[in-house]
Amino acid sequence: MISWKPALLRLKPFDRSFDRDIQVESRTGSGRYTVNLYSYTCTCPDFVQRRADRPPGDLGRSCKHLRDEVLSLDTDAFGDELTRVIFKSPHGPYDRIWFAPGPDGEIFAVGMTDGKPWINIFVRSGPDQPYSRYGYHSADRRWSYDDSPPGEDIIVGMLDSLPGHRNNG
Ligand SMILES: [Zn+2]
Repeated sequence: MISWKPALLRLKPFDRSFDRDIQVESRTGSGRYTVNLYSYTCTCPDFVQRRADRPPGDLGRSCKHLRDEVLSLDTDAFGDELTRVIFKSPHGPYDRIWFAPGPDGEIFAVGMTDGKPWINIFVRSGPDQPYSRYGYHSADRRWSYDDSPPGEDIIVGMLDSLPGHRNNG
């Protein structure tokens, strides 16, 4: 049995010195939103409708505006290496993130967004290499740009048991 663990990746909380309202432009130019890092809130629809109920520190609580603000800071202060790589991924924030021990025994991560066929796999590109992101199309069973991680067959096999993936509920 593969032990997939839902990841509650933690960002360190922001202290009161971050308690200020930051005005940001909507990426589509259709509005302005207010971000506050201390309360870790944003007024955009994505945050209000989908993310506000996530606990503080959960990466899934970050809309793109919160993420932009965090990334404008020294993000190396937040989380471990895998957390930072997932957080910085331009394809996130993800609805669900799962961890499991990979083919080499080291923890790797899978990021999923509801309704999207592409999933993102964060695994080391080799021994002693940093974590890299690999895109995988779960319906077509192919890797983005034909770029596949070490141990790809094992990883693809593991995905069959991933909760919420394909018909696994
Ligand atoms: Zn937002």
